[in-house]
Amino acid sequence: MIKAEDVGGVHIKYLYHCPRQLWLYLRGIRPEHLSATVQLGEAVHDTSYTRNTPVDLGAARLDFIDGRHWVHEVKSSTRPSPADQAQGRHYCHRLRRVGVQAQGAVLHYPKTRRTQRFLYTSEAATQAMTDITEVLSVAALPSSPRRLARTACRGCSFTDYCWTE
Ligand code: SF4
Repeated sequence: MIKAEDVGGVHIKYLYHCPRQLWLYLRGIRPEHLSATVQLGEAVHDTSYTRNTPVDLGAARLDFIDGRHWVHEVKSSTRPSPADQAQGRHYCHRLRRVGVQAQGAVLHYPKTRRTQRFLYTSEAATQAMTDITEVLSVAALPSSPRRLARTACRGCSFTDYCWTE
């Protein structure tokens, strides 16, 4: 069973996208390598910010942190999502836990040349803890959560698993 300190950015992203996706992922079902969407995401990563080195925090791996302690994350999507914001918040939480005074997260969307900046407030810190607790709750479920509505599954790498009857 996953422990709080093992919760990483991917778990948080899946929690926000779909609890069922998180539950499957936690059980080792990971079809990402089959997904063109994910491959495209990796390609955007590889070509957009090559000068920066990812920061490894154990369970969490963020794209880079600048000298003023802002976390930067490069996204392959065109629009910001609550999952992106939650991931940034989670990385700030992790950094604070190891003594780095993370100020917040800057999300980069190179496809649309947008950036979004979120300050790591005390409310964000509380939410980051709540998110970890939620991940542990989903992990403990004896069976997979229900599917989302089909329209919400578009582009999900688990589509074959969930929707092939
Ligand atoms: S296909 Fe839909 S229900 Fe299944 S994990 Fe993905 S988003 Fe969730």
